[in-house]
Amino acid sequence: MDFQSFGLDQRVMDGIEAMQYDTPTPVQEQVIPEIIKGHDIIACAQTGTGKTAAFLIPIINKLLQSQVQEKVKVLVIVPTRELAVQISQQMEGFSYFAGTSSIPIYGGGTGAVYSNEKKALTSGVDMVVCTPGRMISHLNLGYVDLSSLEFLVLDEADRMLDMGFFDDIMKIISYIPNKRQSLLFSATMPPKIREMGRKILNKPKEINIGISMPPEQIRQEAYVLFEEQKPALVNYLTGDDKMKSILIFSDTKVGVKQLSRSLKSKGLDVEEIHSDLQQSEREAVMNRFKSKQLRILVATDIISRGIDVEDIDLVINYDVPNDAEDYVHRIGRTARAGAHGKACTLIGTKEQRKFASIEKLLGKQVEKTRPPEGIGKTPDYSPESYKPDNRGHGFGKPGFRKDKNRRKPFSGRKAKDSAR
Ligand code: AMP
Repeated sequence: MDFQSFGLDQRVMDGIEAMQYDTPTPVQEQVIPEIIKGHDIIACAQTGTGKTAAFLIPIINKLLQSQVQEKVKVLVIVPTRELAVQISQQMEGFSYFAGTSSIPIYGGGTGAVYSNEKKALTSGVDMVVCTPGRMISHLNLGYVDLSSLEFLVLDEADRMLDMGFFDDIMKIISYIPNKRQSLLFSATMPPKIREMGRKILNKPKEINIGISMPPEQIRQEAYVLFEEQKPALVNYLTGDDKMKSILIFSDTKVGVKQLSRSLKSKGLDVEEIHSDLQQSEREAVMNRFKSKQLRILVATDIISRGIDVEDIDLVINYDVPNDAEDYVHRIGRTARAGAHGKACTLIGTKEQRKFASIEKLLGKQVEKTRPPEGIGKTPDYSPESYKPDNRGHGFGKPGFRKDKNRRKPFSGRKAKDSAR
């Protein structure tokens, strides 16, 4: 399937091309036609599946047919300011040729930011992407007119409920017309989300894009430690001679280079793969690893999907991957073809929350192994007590590259790839 088959307006197609999306993801394949038909949607889809574009593309297409002028027509409610900014940026990219407008509205910021938001809300921006609290502040002041709203989107609904936003969301909804198209996206589908869906949605179509679970033969372990203890633990894990073939993932190419240098300095048989290498160099390294002439390979996620190397004994996640899907893909590199394998994830304190959300999606706790004595005292596993790091989530943030005469959208996936 390609985007052409959705019968979209040429201006939307041009936006999709400018964002460099060639093929719809599964969630886009399922969601886009239903939104175009006018159905309400309740979709179980995680970050990283392409869910944002799944609702933005058909909404922009429909906005092009809307008769309503200079009124807010789309309200997207999200849990965090990061997500609000990220969605608005994608909206800007897709709207480049369609000319539809949007603004993120979130807490914090100066008085000038607040005035800007007020101006956009009163002059009728097409789409508002808001966090609940900030939207309520604007609504309370009486100048926001949501009477012409055509689309309501709740994104990461489970996270919003976890953060205690239920009442705020219902209050915002009390300001908008009942006749509207509503879309609810959630990474998980606990009963309270279904209950909320029953209150907000009208005969919704259910769409379920589950993540594939890791095979049972993979023994999953995790080590809870301080970031600075990670190199010593990797030395310990790679020191096990029974592990003949080891693949280590790090989030960034800088991380890969540092780790590979440090392991080489210990006399280990190590090479690296990341986007700074030529394709031919990558293939040569990969071949040595596949044919077992190379024992340890350190890599970014560029090889986490699709590579088929048999008999990898151990996969080490030096960093906690950004989402559950990346986790499943990475650890799936071991235990191929029914063999048994082991996957160890190193969880720094700032990564505890991220790992807890992966466990939530996996539907189980990963066994926490106590690091060897020599590593020193380690922290407890207490995800609620540690702040997440600032690396964002999903495939990274889309953005804009400024050239001399015009801003050109480019896709988030490309942005992230450049770090790999
Ligand atoms: P999301 O799940 O909406 O956070 O999307 C994850 C990432 O995938 C974003 O960086 C998008 O730019 C990218 N993405 C979504 N759909 C596609 C697609 N069809 N082709 C290429 N990249 C995509």
